Amino acid sequence: MMDYPLTVKICETGRHLYIKGLSPGKSGNISVRSKDTVAITPSEVSLGHLKVGEIVFVDMEGEIVAGGAKPSSELKLHLDVYKKRDDVKGIVHTHSPYATGFAMAGERIEHVEGFREGKNPFLKMVDYAPPGTGELATSAGDGLLEEDVIVLKNHGIVATGKNLFEATLLAEFVEETAKTQFISRVLGNIEI
Ligand SMILES: [Zn+2]
Repeated sequence: MMDYPLTVKICETGRHLYIKGLSPGKSGNISVRSKDTVAITPSEVSLGHLKVGEIVFVDMEGEIVAGGAKPSSELKLHLDVYKKRDDVKGIVHTHSPYATGFAMAGERIEHVEGFREGKNPFLKMVDYAPPGTGELATSAGDGLLEEDVIVLKNHGIVATGKNLFEATLLAEFVEETAKTQFISRVLGNIEI
């Protein structure tokens, strides 16, 4: 049942996100879907210090099928997205600082070239619901029906992809975009 290369890939991704400053402390979670099984990071861990044996495998209803740790508190959110999007195979949720700053301030991040084509000039922001709740899972899943990435108001972002690598690149791109937009707004407001 255990897919070791997959668990290694998740641990490497976690370390990458942590080192790049996208998942500080114990924030963030990562999952990968393979057929009807989802491999997800455990609850209350640093993504930068994951161990292969800590990755939890669940079925599409969230029942643990392998791995002993408690799955991420956002498991419902990951499952809701996978159920609504057959094409999504990897999900990265982060509290990366610049994107989360926009989310906390209720400021929208501009939809720039490099994101999936969309009519909306800004990244979609879904209303606040407490972390780990079914309400948040449903609104995130709905929000991702026609988007590959969304901002969770007052919380962070959820990036998806046809594989984990694509989801990770998208999470990085959102953070860089938010950072650039923050800098340009600050500089644009300075009177010389
Ligand atoms: Zn979160």
